[in-house]
Amino acid sequence: MEIAYFNGKFIPKEEVKISPDDRGFLFGDGIYEVVRWYEGFFYDMNSHVTRLKRSLRELRINWDDTDKFPTIASELLKLNKLETQPAMVYLQITRGAACRTHSFPSPQVSPTSYAYAWGFVPDRKSEENGTKVMMKDDIRWSRCDIKSVALLANTISYQEARENGLNECIFVRNGLITEGSHSNIFFVIDGTLFTHPESNFVLSGITRKNILRIAQDSGIKIREEAVQENRIRFIQEAFITNTSSEITPVIELGGNSLGNGLPGPVTRLIREKFEAELKAIKG
Ligand code: PMP
Repeated sequence: MEIAYFNGKFIPKEEVKISPDDRGFLFGDGIYEVVRWYEGFFYDMNSHVTRLKRSLRELRINWDDTDKFPTIASELLKLNKLETQPAMVYLQITRGAACRTHSFPSPQVSPTSYAYAWGFVPDRKSEENGTKVMMKDDIRWSRCDIKSVALLANTISYQEARENGLNECIFVRNGLITEGSHSNIFFVIDGTLFTHPESNFVLSGITRKNILRIAQDSGIKIREEAVQENRIRFIQEAFITNTSSEITPVIELGGNSLGNGLPGPVTRLIREKFEAELKAIKG
């Protein structure tokens, strides 16, 4: 039986009941966080907790248990017997249930909190051989820095990618490449690593942050600067990053083949360093 966390309790998932008046349901008025378990540790849990706090603060949702997230996540793994395999934990907090009106409930209501865990098999094929992605106009709102559950523009764009046999949709805003529907994107141009700077137009990925640190430590030149869509022909390598898939090389971007259709040397080096870091943490 799958056990979930719901409003402070660990209960069978099928017993979770969310009000139809929940603002997460009515307005997408909530945030989420996702962490990855590496058979022994959560990768950079501290940064996930920090981002969780920031998302809540930006939306003015007062959930008192942010510091309990690591314990909640560990408990879910234990209760679902997932400790000895790769797993993910998802946490969602909404503003809570209240009579539908755009303004926040007054007086305040308790936020709704929900989390669950699942085991998974990493997609080694894409991670090693690379993947193909499409590009399209960034139709999202301009607070992409908040990890909001309101992801409609992301989901329809990703669906479009899947229907075209592609594995991610990369957004372009005013001619500048921002990020993917559920990943950040990096480029290698003449040996320099580029990625969009932290801003309201991208999510500050935890993987992104760690890749920048690893690249810096490896002596790779870095420019946190958006790449123009019309400079694709100058890109030698690209890769996308997120918590679940880590670093996935991109071998085709918006119909343009990159490198020789193979993951490039900078991407491979960063992947190796990331793997080495995981091994070192595991001890
Ligand atoms: N951008 C978006 C839009 C995302 O949904 C994600 C995945 N959470 C990322 C970037 C990557 O973030 P992280 O490395 O923290 O998983």
